Amino acid sequence: MPSDYAAAALAAGDSVRIVAARTTSVVASAQQRHGCSPTVTAALGRLLTGAALMGSFLKGRERITLQVNGTGPVRGIVAEASAGGRVRGYPLRPRAELPLNPAGKFDVGGVIGEGYLHVTRSFDTGQPYTSAVPLATGEVGDDLARYFAHSEQVPSVVAVGVLANPGGVIAAGGFLANLLPGAAESTINVLEENVRGLPHVSTLIRERMSPEQIVERVAGALGARVTHVAPVSFTCTCSRERVTRVLVGLGEGELDQMARAQEDTEVTCDFCGQRYYFSPHEIGELRRSASDAADATNG
Ligand SMILES: [Zn+2]
Repeated sequence: MPSDYAAAALAAGDSVRIVAARTTSVVASAQQRHGCSPTVTAALGRLLTGAALMGSFLKGRERITLQVNGTGPVRGIVAEASAGGRVRGYPLRPRAELPLNPAGKFDVGGVIGEGYLHVTRSFDTGQPYTSAVPLATGEVGDDLARYFAHSEQVPSVVAVGVLANPGGVIAAGGFLANLLPGAAESTINVLEENVRGLPHVSTLIRERMSPEQIVERVAGALGARVTHVAPVSFTCTCSRERVTRVLVGLGEGELDQMARAQEDTEVTCDFCGQRYYFSPHEIGELRRSASDAADATNG
């Protein structure tokens, strides 16, 4: 099993679904790719962990995208999960920074500010479905719990955490418990009580507690039965072929301009920072295929 993975379990007579994940390497990779400040690393890491928890065990072309937009200095963050435990994401302003809050923690709520959390679920077929909730605190975990309560009418407990210092990411992870239809109403109180008794989730990860053990601690006397375990990684779905399709989609006019340039055209993937280069000659070839495609459409 790689260092990062998720474990899913059922508890309370299969009336609660609990997922826990360790995402330390995912968040470290995101920090390095985007050159994030410590506070942005914490904010992006929490959102990536939320996506990993909500998107664990997706299939086919299913995808879940979390996006926060706010008045804080980072402006916005996107995190996305797809099948195979692939997670990717980026902040709009990676180097935004604020002093620690009065509790001595990263001011994630401040760096995000007031705004909205958008959750988009994309399925194998049909249109994606998006819903938005106003940010409660911008601390991400609370906002995700609010999203579940308001948009999906699913009482939930969510915790996401990142332990980082200027040298890098020390520990990251989280857990998510959703009440399933038919769950007793008191179950959410039991879960909240269990969670109140736990150290912060990033502390559990730092103390080398496994996702299975975290799931068991969250379930407590509700009794967890682990059903799935699967790896999680920062993996982007971009490729030269996809970038090429985007360029062709720009149309002949744009491509003409690029082809006349003396230098290579550079395209950077927002999600992972990968750079793709196209020579003026290659752009000329793309222009011809764009023009062929246009002729075929017109004809
Ligand atoms: Zn990429």
